[in-house]
Amino acid sequence: MTDIPTFVYEALPSRVIFGSGTVARLAEEAERLGLARVLVLSTPQQEGLAREIAARLGARTAGVFALAAMHTPIETTERALAVVTDLKADGFVAVGGGSTTGLGKALALRTDLPQIVLPTTYAGSEMTPIIGETRDGVKATQTTRKVLPEVVIYDVDLTLSLPPSLSATSGMNAIAHAVEALYAKDRNPIIALMAEEGTAALARSLPRIVETPSDKSARTDALYGAWLCGICLGTVGMALHHKLCHTLGGTFDLPHAETHTVVLPHALAYNAPAVPDTMMRLSRALQAKDAALALYDLAGRLHAPRSLRELGMPESGIGRAADLAVKNPYWNPQPVERAAIRALIARAFAGDPPG
Ligand code: NAD
Repeated sequence: MTDIPTFVYEALPSRVIFGSGTVARLAEEAERLGLARVLVLSTPQQEGLAREIAARLGARTAGVFALAAMHTPIETTERALAVVTDLKADGFVAVGGGSTTGLGKALALRTDLPQIVLPTTYAGSEMTPIIGETRDGVKATQTTRKVLPEVVIYDVDLTLSLPPSLSATSGMNAIAHAVEALYAKDRNPIIALMAEEGTAALARSLPRIVETPSDKSARTDALYGAWLCGICLGTVGMALHHKLCHTLGGTFDLPHAETHTVVLPHALAYNAPAVPDTMMRLSRALQAKDAALALYDLAGRLHAPRSLRELGMPESGIGRAADLAVKNPYWNPQPVERAAIRALIARAFAGDPPG
């Protein structure tokens, strides 16, 4: 880079253990934190894994709470809090994707107890001080370092079972963090390095994973990329793409990672004229001339959804989504204008290539 601008870089504290078989380090890490009564968290689908993890912790386990759910419902958090009190838990191990990490964060927010996270998707929540919680169907997000996990153990082996379709959309969700970090208002050269590297690692590994889900070298590349993209999300502010996904997901109850996958090429194309440096870096990472089209093509190669229609959004919702997307102003590199946003959503709805 020739022109280094004035910038602020604020790193978030984290201890990360990365590799294959690293789950074997869990008991040692719990001991380092002085934990003696750990509550292991998971979704109902991953309860078996949570019980294996609990067995590894041996006498340091207080119990397993396997009711984590998408979008961190407050009622689930309250049920878990009662278990924390009953069992006198002194820390949490969250094993799973963003839903389980979200529950661990919600508990840390209320108890200040330490968390160890074992991520099994590419969502990246374990690297962010952000928590979104749902009460009566309404999701509210806050940012506080109280929810930042003390230790993150990335074990590639735990990701081998992630189905190809989830791997694809979860990976595209991670790339979205990097894309918006590159043109963030508070972007900086350090985060740009991570964003470019994270995007490249995911773009080259995801097609291999979809073809051969047990390909450990591709899984390693993807998890490494997802980690970097998670740091991007946790460190700088997001813009149009994340706001749109939040609006669409909340209004039409669309699935999280799939919505990111569909919207990303369109949001990037919308911002492209205002962010030449981002487009140059993404072209390099994706090895393509047109980065927005390359992301659309990547989703196609991954057999991932490319239209909001197939995610269940009603066509009549396009106008309402456009209204909501421009309702509360926020920073974006390109002015957010209703007609252009409506056109963006209409293309994403139909599954057309980015305009
Ligand atoms: P998820 O955690 O909901 O997981 C989806 C499903 O896949 C679950 O049933 C889970 O048990 C299963 N699963 C996860 N890993 C698996 C594996 N390796 N093998 C087999 N099954 C597996 O999905 P997600 O996309 O990781 O997380 C989405 C949630 O995370 C959303 O609520 C989103 O808002 C939140 N999120 C928050 C942040 C943040 O910074 N706060 C960042 C990203 C995502």
